Amino acid sequence: MSEIKFACPHCSQHIACDDLYCGERIDCPGCGRVLFIPLQAAFNPPPAASLMPRTPVGFKQRQYPQSSRLDVWTEESWEKHAAEVEPDQSPRMLPVWVLLFLPFVVGLILMTHRAGVVSIAYLFILCAIVSGLYLAKIKSNSGVGMILASLLYSFGMLCVYAVMSFGLLFVGCLVTVI
Ligand SMILES: [Zn+2]
Repeated sequence: MSEIKFACPHCSQHIACDDLYCGERIDCPGCGRVLFIPLQAAFNPPPAASLMPRTPVGFKQRQYPQSSRLDVWTEESWEKHAAEVEPDQSPRMLPVWVLLFLPFVVGLILMTHRAGVVSIAYLFILCAIVSGLYLAKIKSNSGVGMILASLLYSFGMLCVYAVMSFGLLFVGCLVTVI
């Protein structure tokens, strides 16, 4: 028995409830419209308890609460929960971090091999597109949305590269001045 958290599809009201209600129809405490509580499987892998041998019938009295218990989450507690969940998502962001620094390292190596500015520019664009596609994929967009999202993320990455380049240039100048 654990708590699940989800948002109302109609009004985005944050709702927390017991997983006993998974798949059930409820009225949203925010907007009053009917919604289905998402299945537990959508949040967590099935608990290990489901693999346990069956308990005797006498013990198999699941206690269903009498009244449906719905808590409305404040924005603050929702953010706090999101922050707690955050570490699970960081391994998925690792390739993005790698792609963030990779073109600088490879670019430096290319420069020492007297590669042209154009090839280094291509390198940055390629890395931006790859990370854009990756970001769009982990945000699980589909179809046209994914293409648009990846374009947006790619452009964002290019901006980040530009800012980082200026930062490096600034640090470089500072070091030469000193
Ligand atoms: Zn609602």
